[in-house]
Amino acid sequence: MGEALLELALTPEGWRRDVFVAWDRGRITAVDASTAPERRAPATRIAGAVVPGTGNLHSHAFQRGFAGLTERRGAGADDHFWTWREEMYRFARTISPDDLAVLAALAQVEMLESGFTGVAEFHYVHHRPDGGSYDDPAEMSAAVVRAAETTGIGLTLLPVFYAHGGFGDRPTGEGQRRFVCDLESYARLHEAAGRAVATLEGGRIGIAPHSLRAVNDVELRALAERHRGGPIHVHIAEQVAEVADCLVATGRRPVEHLFDTVAVDRDWCLIHATHVEPNEVAAMAASGAVVGLCPITEADLGDGIFPAVDHDAAGGAWGVGSDSNVLISLPQELRLLEQSQRLRDRARNRMARPPRSTGRSLFDAAVAGGARALGEAASGLVVGARADFVALDPDHVALAGRGDDALLDAWIFATAENPVREVWAGGRRVVVDGRHVARDRVEAGWRALLAKIAG
Ligand SMILES: [Zn+2]
Repeated sequence: MGEALLELALTPEGWRRDVFVAWDRGRITAVDASTAPERRAPATRIAGAVVPGTGNLHSHAFQRGFAGLTERRGAGADDHFWTWREEMYRFARTISPDDLAVLAALAQVEMLESGFTGVAEFHYVHHRPDGGSYDDPAEMSAAVVRAAETTGIGLTLLPVFYAHGGFGDRPTGEGQRRFVCDLESYARLHEAAGRAVATLEGGRIGIAPHSLRAVNDVELRALAERHRGGPIHVHIAEQVAEVADCLVATGRRPVEHLFDTVAVDRDWCLIHATHVEPNEVAAMAASGAVVGLCPITEADLGDGIFPAVDHDAAGGAWGVGSDSNVLISLPQELRLLEQSQRLRDRARNRMARPPRSTGRSLFDAAVAGGARALGEAASGLVVGARADFVALDPDHVALAGRGDDALLDAWIFATAENPVREVWAGGRRVVVDGRHVARDRVEAGWRALLAKIAG
C-alpha cells in the first residue's frame, strides 16, 4: 500500500497540480485532483511532471546482448533481415538460463529508466542448446521472471509457440532447435511458465504464436481456443518476403489470412504489421487489436514503414515495443515513428490528434495501446490501473520553460538526454535521480557476462 502527492500530473482530464494517488498491491485505488493539498498529507511527494508509465509491448530481452555486433555488411550479398537473423541464431545458441537473467535485467533496467514500466516479453529460447528440454521446461522463462524480480518491471510473459521453418510446415533448422515445440510440449511449458510468473506481483502470462510462417492454421486455432481471454501476440507482415510466401501458400496476405483463420479481437497484438493494404488496415482498426510498432528495430532491420497515419485515422489501437533492444528508449521509439511518417509524406505533425500536440498524441496512444497489449484492463492515472508513475525533471535544461504538452514534445523530439528523474513501477520506486536502484549490481553482472562471451 502507498500514497503520494503528485506535484503536476497528466490525468485523463489533462494536466493537474497536486494530484493525490493511493495504491494497493501495485494498483491505483484512488486518484483525487480536487481536494486541497493541505487536507491531504501523504508522506511522499513526487516532484516534477508525472506521466503514466508505458507498457513496452514487444521485447526479446536476450537480443540486447549482441546489440552493435551486426553493423557490418557480409561479403558479397546485401544485408537484410534474414542475414541478421543468422547472427541472432548464433547468439541464441550460446546463452544459459543464468546468462538470460543477466541480459534481461539490463534490458529491463534501461526500459525503466526510459519510461517503460512494463514489458511483454516475447520469449522463444526455451530449450537446452542441443534442443532437449530442461528438467523444468520453463527454466528459461523463469530466468526472465528472475530479472523482473530484480528490476521491478511489470512482466507479461509470452511463451512463444514455434513449430515450423516456413509456410507449408517446412522443417525447422539447426538454428531454431532451442525454440521448437509441439502443442503438447508447449502446454507443459506454458503451465510451468505460468507458475513462475505467478510469483511476481502483477505478473501475467499470455501466448505468442510466433508467426504465420512458424505456426500452421490448425495450431493457430488450437492455441487461440485454448488460451482465450489473455494476451495473444503474433509477428505479422514484417518482411516483404514473408508476405510473398504467404500469398503463395494461402492466396492471401498475412493479415488477411490471420483474420480469415481466427477471430482477432482486443486480446490480440499484431507485431509489426508493416506491409498492409488499406483493407487490412481497416480490419485491424475495427478489430480492437493493438498493432505493435517497434520503429527503432524496424529501421535497424530495414523492414519498411507502417501506414501509421491511416491506421490512427481509422481509430486503430497501437503501441510501441523495443523488440531487438538494439537501443532502448521510449521517447526515441515515438520520435522515429512520427519522423518516419514525415519522411514518407514530406509533411509535419502526422500523428497529431488536435488540439493535443503531436508528442501528447503519440504518448497517449502508446500508454493506452501498451496497457491493452500487456493484458491490463485500465491505463493511465485511473483507479484500477497499475501504479506506474514516470516523473520528468522540470529543471532539466531540455524542459526549461516548457509546460504541459510541450513537456512531452520536448522529451520526445528535442533532447538526446534523459529527463526522466523518478520511476515507480507497481507502486515501487525503482528509478531515483534517473538511475535504477539496482543498476550497479545489474551492470556488474552484464560486464562480467559480456567479457566471458567475448573471451
Ligand atoms: Zn520480434
